[in-house]
Amino acid sequence: MNPCDQQDAPRSELDSTISLRPEHNPVVRNLGNSKSLRAAVDAQCAHCMGCTAEHLEPGFRDEIRDCSAPACPLWNFRPYQRSA
Ligand code: SF4
Repeated sequence: MNPCDQQDAPRSELDSTISLRPEHNPVVRNLGNSKSLRAAVDAQCAHCMGCTAEHLEPGFRDEIRDCSAPACPLWNFRPYQRSA
């Protein structure tokens, strides 16, 4: 799929497309970046939402952004938050 076409693609189609690109998978990024706390937190949150190295859960970014577990030690550091 041409990247320009992705702007009009349904969200579920985008997620399945992105899942084929390892650079967009936080779990995979962490495997190649084991000394990065940022990569580790991103991977843990993605894992928490059901993502693996082989699978990205559709909508996982929104789920992490809207995470409803403020007692989690990683909550303040979770990725995909909107900037204030
Ligand atoms: S902040 Fe939310 S998504 Fe991230 S690890 Fe904690 S509970 Fe899971």
